[in-house]
Amino acid sequence: MNIAATPQRATEIQSMTRRDTPLVRFQGVRKSFGELEVLKGIDLEVKSGEVVALIGRSGSGKSTALRCVNGLERINAGELTVCGRTLHDGKVDLRDLRQDVGIVFQSYNLFPHLTVEQNVTLAPRKVHKIGSKEARELSDQVLAQVGLSDKAKNYPEQLSGGQQQRVAIARSLAMRPKLILFDEVTSALDPELTGEVLRVIAKLAAEGMTMMLVTHEMAFARSVADQIVFMHQGRIWESGKGEMLDNPQTPELRQFVGNGL
Ligand code: ADP
Ligand code: MG
Repeated sequence: MNIAATPQRATEIQSMTRRDTPLVRFQGVRKSFGELEVLKGIDLEVKSGEVVALIGRSGSGKSTALRCVNGLERINAGELTVCGRTLHDGKVDLRDLRQDVGIVFQSYNLFPHLTVEQNVTLAPRKVHKIGSKEARELSDQVLAQVGLSDKAKNYPEQLSGGQQQRVAIARSLAMRPKLILFDEVTSALDPELTGEVLRVIAKLAAEGMTMMLVTHEMAFARSVADQIVFMHQGRIWESGKGEMLDNPQTPELRQFVGNGL
């Protein structure tokens, strides 16, 4: 894809290519750490343009599920297909996979000695071998997408936590991923800073970005997700649209929602 395309153009291309083929498909996926089985047979599909929110108690396997999707963890059994690649055969080029699959963590890990623009364009300069002018244009585009056009020349320490997390999202967007994974990206932020980050994610969702996100923000999950997945003890316990939170079918989800709201 032409990385110099405008955000609007990128969105048009995305919606043109939106299909019913899932970008991510878990089929009976199992993952253990030693004796501990953390994913006990996960079946899940994420279609292009879809937003899937994973919710559930700490330790239920949400982060592990996300980490399998971009190859940070290898599955032990079942099948996992991501952006047309079968991850379980062990032959997947992980660098290649991670160009298609961005991940944003709770800790944003920006390089303190680099400006915002340099942080955002580091990977595309390396991987896509783009020049300075293109890098500047790319930085302008993705910073505009996260509402930080005026911060390109600033250093991370000059920004609030919410702004730094938005830079981390822009950094991910700069690779033009097909899918972005968000793992509790607002959990480390002061409550007054979470809104600006959630608004950026909601905007990307509205523009058609495919995403899987782990979140404790139930109102946000309900408003942005096409599918909510409640994980419990390494299994998908319940899944559905936002209304499932109003009418839990299991005591576990009822208890989780009761505590979470
Ligand atoms: P969640 O994100 O829902 O809180 P995780 O996927 O992080 O859950 O963890 C699920 C379980 O797997 C927990 O019991 C956790 O301690 C364990 N676990 C996660 N990563 C590792 C690891 N690298 N080695 C050993 N155990 C791990
Ligand atoms: Mg986690």
